[in-house]
Amino acid sequence: RMNVRKITTGSQALDGLLGGGIETRTMTEFFGEFGSGKTQLCHQLSVNVQLPPEKGGLSGKAVYIDTEGTFRWERIENMAKALGLDIDNVMNNIYYIRAINTDHQIAIVDDLQELVSKDPSIKLIIVDSVTSHFRAEYPGRENLAVRQQKLNKHLHQLTRLAEVYDIAVIITNQVMARPDMFYGDPTVAVGGHTLYHVPGIRVQLKKSRGNRRIARVVDAPHLPEGEVVFALTEEGIRD
Ligand code: ADP
Ligand code: MG
Repeated sequence: RMNVRKITTGSQALDGLLGGGIETRTMTEFFGEFGSGKTQLCHQLSVNVQLPPEKGGLSGKAVYIDTEGTFRWERIENMAKALGLDIDNVMNNIYYIRAINTDHQIAIVDDLQELVSKDPSIKLIIVDSVTSHFRAEYPGRENLAVRQQKLNKHLHQLTRLAEVYDIAVIITNQVMARPDMFYGDPTVAVGGHTLYHVPGIRVQLKKSRGNRRIARVVDAPHLPEGEVVFALTEEGIRD
């Protein structure tokens, strides 16, 4: 695919799995159980996008939409310091937005069009997590249709921003460790993981021993199959 650019994750193994890193013009989903590293990856990528291209970045800025209140500036500081970057600069290049409910989350993304056209240095948009407010506000099977309809529209809007403005979009989605065991949650499909279908790359994260995590790409014919291991460290994502 032409003109796609990549952002390093900080792990060569994970970059390799993704064909070089997180792609612009694409929406990448990290899904996995609690503690699998989704939020740490989001923090790391909002720092790494700022690296110069020769170091795996895009000399760009990030928009971080936090729906769960788990963003920590302290983690950004640690990761920036570990890369020898200017901490104040790195923090200034992250637009942090806390989304308090689905309407707010949707409105934030509606407004992003204006922000990204004004500031073309924005190269990464993160929604961590994209599903939590939707699950809380539209629980159960009786609300499934309207929830999926709203979520799909939201995801297509994000995909469009990625494609039109050459931006990497990252969304996260918390799922149970063994989705096939939990028919009670209607976003968890039998044998699959979610009921929505949008273009993009889906990466499953799993806990392994200690600070090790396993990543696997699902349903991406252009990427190699298989799993890789990476580490969550004080300095950030590493091999
Ligand atoms: P998820 O978003 O998938 O629920 P997180 O990305 O929040 O999971 O991952 C949480 C894990 O990240 C912790 O269990 C820990 O292993 C690791 N982690 C968080 N902060 C630090 C830190 N300062 N130093 C080292 N590891 C950390
Ligand atoms: Mg998280």
